[in-house]
Amino acid sequence: MGAQITLIPGDGIGPEIVRSALQVFEAAGADAEWDEQIAGMSAVNEGMGPLPQPTVDSIRRNRVALKGPLTTPVGEGFRSINVALRKMFDLYANVRPARSLVRGGRYEDVDVVVIRENTEGLYVGVEHFIGMEDDPQAAAESVMIVTRFGAERIARFAFDYALAHERKKVTLVHKANILKCTQGLFLDVGRDVARDYEGRIEYEERIVDNTAMQLVVNPYQFDVIVTENMFGDILSDEASGLIGGLGLAPGANIGRDVAIFEAVHGSAPDIAGQGVANPSAVILAGCLMFEHLGQTGVAERVRGALSAALQGGSRTPDLGGTATTAEFADQIVRGLT
Ligand code: NAD
Repeated sequence: MGAQITLIPGDGIGPEIVRSALQVFEAAGADAEWDEQIAGMSAVNEGMGPLPQPTVDSIRRNRVALKGPLTTPVGEGFRSINVALRKMFDLYANVRPARSLVRGGRYEDVDVVVIRENTEGLYVGVEHFIGMEDDPQAAAESVMIVTRFGAERIARFAFDYALAHERKKVTLVHKANILKCTQGLFLDVGRDVARDYEGRIEYEERIVDNTAMQLVVNPYQFDVIVTENMFGDILSDEASGLIGGLGLAPGANIGRDVAIFEAVHGSAPDIAGQGVANPSAVILAGCLMFEHLGQTGVAERVRGALSAALQGGSRTPDLGGTATTAEFADQIVRGLT
């Protein structure tokens, strides 16, 4: 029996790109049994909530999911379905590799992985307005939460990831020069964890503003970056910009028990149903998933064929080409067979 995987085609361009991804993985000989479930607008349109219980149960059972982008219905109670999933399964590590696939861009051979803490920091959403005199919103405040537990598990995750993926260096990114308690704790804990990996993985520390600048000036100096929630959100988008944008950026949300893999981009309602969306990001997310499942050969073959298809000039309109989603997927499949 193959690996049981929850498959959520998603909304907007989701079903189009996920269908292409399945075609590619089948051609690559992936050992998978897909357990298809719905969420987002697709679920709401069927008269359910945006995150139906059978979908949650399936993820809990299979522990691994490949997810297309979801449109968060406006006014449906959830701030975001993705945030809800992250909380429900304690998906504390967001892994965003940015690797050049298309030559002729601003940079060639960028290969950086941003590991973002996904559960703490300012994004816990502890914030409120403070009223003064007749202005109920005269001020606003937001609390940044960092725990020793959270900082330690993300730092360990980053070093273990670096070891498992034969990486050489981890850069811890912080703002401890200003935020002495929260960022100071994140840095201190990271430093302690780094000692356990001495001699195996090189370690360095950078302040976030300098990192943002250095990433643009010379991205080759970075290998694995580990940082807190908001800095990771910003730096990972910056890193995907270095390699050609969102159409090529996969992401993984990983917890102790469950891992959910997805493209970084959203449901792209402006091009949905036209058959022109770029399926690369969701295919690359699937590669991360098959690596996670131990099917590294599948991931390597698919990445090679996808890269060859792009180099060979088959490109969807977002990359300046004229290929449809299906034509591009067919080109990848030809490279596999
Ligand atoms: P988006 O990422 O969907 O689209 C931004 C722009 O990029 C659009 O012009 C779109 O056409 C283009 N684009 C995105 N993916 C593409 C692809 N694969 N190929 C070609 N072009 C692509 O962001 P948005 O418009 O801000 O959000 C639309 C919806 O998606 C919203 O409901 C939002 O909540 C949701 N969203 C979901 C996720 C997720 O499920 N992980 C992430 C982000 C946004």
